[in-house]
This record gives sequence, structure tokens and C-alpha cells, in this order.
Amino acid sequence: MGKTSIRKNDMVIVTAGKEKGKKGKVLRVVPEKKRVIVEKINFIKKHQRPTSAQKQGGIIEKEGLIHISNVMIFCEKCGKGVRVRHQRLADGSTERMCAGCGESFD
Ligand SMILES: [Zn+2]
Repeated sequence: MGKTSIRKNDMVIVTAGKEKGKKGKVLRVVPEKKRVIVEKINFIKKHQRPTSAQKQGGIIEKEGLIHISNVMIFCEKCGKGVRVRHQRLADGSTERMCAGCGESFD
């Protein structure tokens, strides 16, 4: 696998595991762990310490980390998870494009 091409706010689709087929927006990328947090996907129960605002504490549900190899960028045009192609632009920057239809993701 190449370098990480998933960024915050990308639409991704889960390609493996119990959440397979679900789509969501990337809330956070954790590059050092090669994992992402995707909105409303992979909820885990977390214990919350009591705070001054919420004296009780308790258990909350929160999105858990998903390994990057288990998600793909979702292309609206193709209607599926796709591979990303990196296109070098004239100014030296890189643009991410759908390997299927050429749609830009940036
Ligand atoms: Zn596409």
C-alpha cells in the first residue's frame, strides 16, 4: 500500500469488518497509527470520568479507530469505493483523483 491518501472530511466507505458497506465522513486521521475516525461508524463504549459539568460520568458511545486499509475513498460519480491517483500539478502540488473516473477529491 502506498502513502496515506485519506484526509479529514473525505467521504469513505468501509470495505471490511462488521461495518462493511457503510459510508461516512472522516472526522480525524491518525497517521502514526494508520487509522481514521469516521462519523457514525464503529461506535465503541467508552467510560467517561465525572466532570464538573456532568457529575455522574458513565458510559458514552463514541466512534472508534478504523484501520486505513479497511476504508476506501468513496467516489460519488462512480458510486463506490475507489483507488486514488495522485496527479502532479504545474505548481508542484499534488491533486488526488479518482482512479476510475478522474473526479478530483481536493
Ligand atoms: Zn470516480
